[in-house]
Amino acid sequence: MSVYYKEEGNIGTITFDAPDSKVNVLSSPVIAAFEKILDEFKNTSAIKAVVIQSAKNGIFIAGADIKEIENITAVSDGKAKSQAGQRVLNKIEDLPLPTVAVIDGAALGGGCELALACRYRVATFNDKVRIGLPEVNLGFVPGFGGTYRLPRLIGLQAALKLILSGNPVNANAALKMGLVDRLYPQAALIERIKELIAEIIPYPRQRIIRRPSKKGFDAFLDRNPFGQNLVFKKSLEEVNKAAKGFYPAPVKALETIRKTLRLEREHGLDIESTAFAQLAVTPLSKNLLKVFFLSEKFKKLTVPGLENIQPVPMRKGAVIGAGIMGGGIAQLLSNRGVWVRVKDINLDAIAKGLKAADDVYKQMVRRRRMKPHERNAKMAMISGTLDYSGFQNADMVIEAVVEDMDIKKKIFAEIGDKAPRAVLATNTSSLSVTEMAKAAKDPSRVIGFHFFNPVHRMPLIEIITTARTSPQTLVSTLEFAKRLGKVPIIVKDGPGFLVNRILLGYINEAGRLLQEGGSIEHLDKVAVDFGMPMGPFTLSDEVGLDVGVKVLHILEAGLGPRFKAAPVLDQVVEKKLLGKKSGKGFYIHGTTRTINPQVAGMVKSNEKVSDQEAIDRMVYIMVNEAAMILQEGIVDGPDTVDIGMIMGTGFPPFRGGLLRYADSIGVDNIVKTLEAFEDRFKDGRFKPCAYILDLKKQGKKFYAASN
Ligand code: NAD
Repeated sequence: MSVYYKEEGNIGTITFDAPDSKVNVLSSPVIAAFEKILDEFKNTSAIKAVVIQSAKNGIFIAGADIKEIENITAVSDGKAKSQAGQRVLNKIEDLPLPTVAVIDGAALGGGCELALACRYRVATFNDKVRIGLPEVNLGFVPGFGGTYRLPRLIGLQAALKLILSGNPVNANAALKMGLVDRLYPQAALIERIKELIAEIIPYPRQRIIRRPSKKGFDAFLDRNPFGQNLVFKKSLEEVNKAAKGFYPAPVKALETIRKTLRLEREHGLDIESTAFAQLAVTPLSKNLLKVFFLSEKFKKLTVPGLENIQPVPMRKGAVIGAGIMGGGIAQLLSNRGVWVRVKDINLDAIAKGLKAADDVYKQMVRRRRMKPHERNAKMAMISGTLDYSGFQNADMVIEAVVEDMDIKKKIFAEIGDKAPRAVLATNTSSLSVTEMAKAAKDPSRVIGFHFFNPVHRMPLIEIITTARTSPQTLVSTLEFAKRLGKVPIIVKDGPGFLVNRILLGYINEAGRLLQEGGSIEHLDKVAVDFGMPMGPFTLSDEVGLDVGVKVLHILEAGLGPRFKAAPVLDQVVEKKLLGKKSGKGFYIHGTTRTINPQVAGMVKSNEKVSDQEAIDRMVYIMVNEAAMILQEGIVDGPDTVDIGMIMGTGFPPFRGGLLRYADSIGVDNIVKTLEAFEDRFKDGRFKPCAYILDLKKQGKKFYAASN
């Protein structure tokens, strides 16, 4: 049974405990079972208080059943589902006796809304306590009364912050904002709840714990209609800025709260359920749900057939090269409790690497995500060295020296003996892992472990296997990636692996468009208007164009002339216009950013390229490359491509991923456009590959119809 009821003395306890699952969700059957309990319970007069809890470890209720939401195709169906949930939560709210939600883990979405309908909420000091309404991140608004109850409970400003960002809060923050009434230690939970109940039972019809009160301007903004208008106006500006017109859910949530703030419950909830249903049926929300399922799947990735291999736990790590990446990797490892030795060729470089790691920690302290003493303890887990001392005990060595095959090979020839039991990983962005493995005494221990920059923020990691990588090495590395909190994808060795190979085609095409007379600003805008987090030239300036062009040359050598760098890109690097790091690139980076006239002078002008052509060329060249990657078996399916591009490059999630987007346009249409470009340029770069032609011939999509 997913939810059951028990009476003990004068206390009724409703416990959620979904069988055969680690989490509780509010699916339709669970909601119905819950409603039945509440209906029957109405008749029991001996009960003086109701406790609502979960029997799961680290989970109260994770939310509504999003699989059900994914299947909503009609607004009427969506509205009915939302109303069914609202009705049950109203029943809790209307009970003529105190109700207490006991939150000892995640209370998200519908789970948070259920707690909001109780008169009291308590949480534990458990680190897993997370309370929030993440619905907008899935493209809809809370539909079980969250938009109505939260502002009334914690005030307008705090409620908007929670609902519009979708970010949950931890137990301490929840207590501070009045989202929970008390925090209890897990060990004494039962006694404390009993004490609380004894305290509240004498007051069956009223709340006796006061919420934190707001004063002064804060109170004005929360309660005065003029203040509220100011808050709505400011929030709308912020939401519009962040959503760039792509994400309607936060705007709709704001509108819903504005409309319902002074309405009575029935009317307010009706407006909420309509808003929920209107958004839940949109293709955009369906795409965001698919991306959510994908990221959940990859966070738990296992290798079929290797499930029985036990991963070697990584307790001690070593990083070679204390540069931008090495410093970042050392920080990440130490933050996850792994001791790290960092080796470089001189003390200055080591000092820089340690400083880079410490800068990340300092920022965490500034943002109150970490206490100063925790930062000190974590930094103490990183130590520098000029030799291989301390490598003897390493479980994993991560090579992150300059992108130079000879240097890397030399390192791989040496480290096997220095770290006799370690996995030997390389963070190379594009060089052949197979080549490096050949230099190692034991190639079975060699693997690619490709982080993205900045390491602490970018969620993706590419795990690159060679033909000789052992299953044990792969399984241990995969588990480690998950422990580091990354979303891993497994990619077979090949030039540029997955993400850089696809992304560089896009940057290079932008270079060609520029050369033909597009402008830097225009092309960047076209990409941003499509939903990319930044345009190709802004991205090049961020990363450093020298890095990108170097990878392009490696791709050209490995994959052929379609990767020949657009001449303007080579010229920009020759002129040392490397981007932010040199102050000038496509843009001049000062207090304000301006177009660099030097680059404009290198290209034709006035031959305007249409927005449509520009975006089609930049995106379809990526689609064709991704199809080739599938054809070569570099990755095992379209979902790996999509999660890789979303998590590794910020490809717009609302489009569902590169290949999901291609499916929405239609393989037929893409092939037709690719062929037209190929006819015009006749250099092979747009020539549709066999894989995509085959899909077209068979009338198939990248994703099978069921996905
Ligand atoms: P970097 O130039 O910032 O740092 C390289 C460091 O390696 C320097 O501190 C240098 O002194 C050190 N080094 C050079 N030879 C060495 C040796 N023999 N032994 C020990 N240390 C040595 O480079 P980076 O940007 O951190 O890149 C490192 C690796 O990570 C490269 O393979 C690069 O392709 C890859 N990578 C870079 C990025 C990025 O955005 N920067 C992203 C992903 C992967």
